[in-house]
Amino acid sequence: MEPIDRSTVWPYDERGEPGAFMYQRYAHPTGTAAEQALGALERGDALLFGSGTAAVTACVFTLCRPGSTIALAEGAYFGTGVTMRQFAPWGLEVVEFDQTGPPPPDADVVWLEAPANPVLTVPDWDAARAHPGAVVCDATISTPVFLAALDEGADIVLHSATKYLTGHHDALLGATVTRDDELQQRLYDARLRLGLSASPDAAGALLQGLQTLEVRMRRQTETASELARRLRADPRVAKVRYPGFSSLISFDVADARAVETATRVIRNQTSLGGVTSSMESRYRWEGDRIPAGLLRLSVGLEDVETLWTDLDQALGER
Ligand code: PLP
Repeated sequence: MEPIDRSTVWPYDERGEPGAFMYQRYAHPTGTAAEQALGALERGDALLFGSGTAAVTACVFTLCRPGSTIALAEGAYFGTGVTMRQFAPWGLEVVEFDQTGPPPPDADVVWLEAPANPVLTVPDWDAARAHPGAVVCDATISTPVFLAALDEGADIVLHSATKYLTGHHDALLGATVTRDDELQQRLYDARLRLGLSASPDAAGALLQGLQTLEVRMRRQTETASELARRLRADPRVAKVRYPGFSSLISFDVADARAVETATRVIRNQTSLGGVTSSMESRYRWEGDRIPAGLLRLSVGLEDVETLWTDLDQALGER
């Protein structure tokens, strides 16, 4: 990997003209290299943002006008709806719908999450494709390893690269990818003018993370599949949600707070997608929109037996 250039400014050329890089908010070398790497994986044009939330902001700003309606997948990342509702004073409406069926026909934008975090539903792509509105798919949990969202019919695929794409809980980063030149230009303008750019260090973390993405995703999925199987067979667990790919599992227990604070290897913390496993009760953030006993487990690269031993003791008496 090239060394990270942290400059905020680069000199004009000898004729006094700006070159490819002149001020960091516009573009920087590590960001451009990371965009090319992610774009190659998604077969589209990528843009990095300062966080997944910054990428959400840029999409809403680009696709909506005062009075627009976004149909948002029910059970999608809680913060996405919160961000969208910041635009309520500008007349933006957000309606939630069950993404396993057709979106409301009159929505201007259809916002899918594949799979939704933390309820782990997957979208009905035929229904989304048939909708006349623009389709955004947040593919943070699938990554390009398990989903080619642009091939499925999304106009924009969005990632919180804070999660699996960087993979080590050490970078805050978002991304969009599209095959539509006009959308790409408008997203770029939104990033530039609203000040949503990503740092060179976070872009460097993405370049590094992408080198191991596929092996991490496959190994974490293998471990998660086995843990999901054991949790399903366990009488202390009321319900398990696992789509069969990715490392994210959510399951319901009688006392989520007691279980999450009893693990020793799995860290009781928020976020997901790292090489170290994390688990938390989502009720503290989302309240009654999800079951009170729901635990979200993001499975890392630790050995499956180590993780099962930890979960087994944290679940308490059989
Ligand atoms: N989308 C999904 C599916 C997420 O899980 C998250 C964060 O948890 C985000 C978007 C927001 O990303 P960030 O925290 O990088 O702003």
